[in-house]
Amino acid sequence: YGKLYVVATPIGNLADFSFRALEVLKQVDLIAAEDTRHVKMLLSHYGVNKPLTSLHQHNEDKASLGLVERIQQGQSVALVSDAGTPIISDPGLPLVRLARQHGIDVTPIPGACALIAALSVAGLPTSRFSFEGFLPRTASARREFFRDKLSDESTWAFYESSHRIQAALEDMAAVFPAEHRIVVAREITKLHETIADGSLAEVLARVQADENMRKGEFVVIAAGSPPAEKSDQISDAERRILALLLQECS
Ligand code: SAM
Repeated sequence: YGKLYVVATPIGNLADFSFRALEVLKQVDLIAAEDTRHVKMLLSHYGVNKPLTSLHQHNEDKASLGLVERIQQGQSVALVSDAGTPIISDPGLPLVRLARQHGIDVTPIPGACALIAALSVAGLPTSRFSFEGFLPRTASARREFFRDKLSDESTWAFYESSHRIQAALEDMAAVFPAEHRIVVAREITKLHETIADGSLAEVLARVQADENMRKGEFVVIAAGSPPAEKSDQISDAERRILALLLQECS
């Protein structure tokens, strides 16, 4: 059998490609990429010129079968996504699963990941955290999501696009206390990298006031809520949930 390599690529700054990632990409027989045109351009920057095949959200079940067959015939394949670590809010899970089921070696080539980069500078505890991927697209589903997060005592994070960053923070502000601490990490490793840190009200005001703060790619990190006091009294988080539910019922 050949091998399957899961290779991280930069999330903006091209210097973040690892030596090992480039070595592996030069050595494999085939590169499976989310967007082959994008990856072709990226790789030509480093002088890598390899056959590419597309593996995206809409074809990955079928494409994965073909790739596993090729690996069984002795070829080595690298999986890359458009940016960062494959599978993290990106395609590739069916391929990795299928490869494992067939006893194929799956080797990670670690590198950039927007979530981990944002967490590393947020200044919030990371001994326990949760990653929520992209939030639902409608305001009502987002508010429901935020209501569920009110009682989460550990750090949590989500990905957001320029189209929805303001609306997402506004929905969060409709549910969470104004002083809840958040960090918005924008355009990490790129020219306009901004790490906006403060209370929810402060960071939201900054996003509302400055059009540039709504451009690019975002990771939002939120602090955990203070632990509920162990007593018969209801906690602040519970009080807020009750008030919101009552508001919706009336
Ligand atoms: N697999 C990628 C990773 O390892 O981070 C994530 C892919 S996901 C489709 C793309 C989302 O990741 C963007 O919408 C944004 O929320 C986040 N992201 C990617 N690059 C980023 C960057 N340079 N700065 C901030 N967020 C970024």
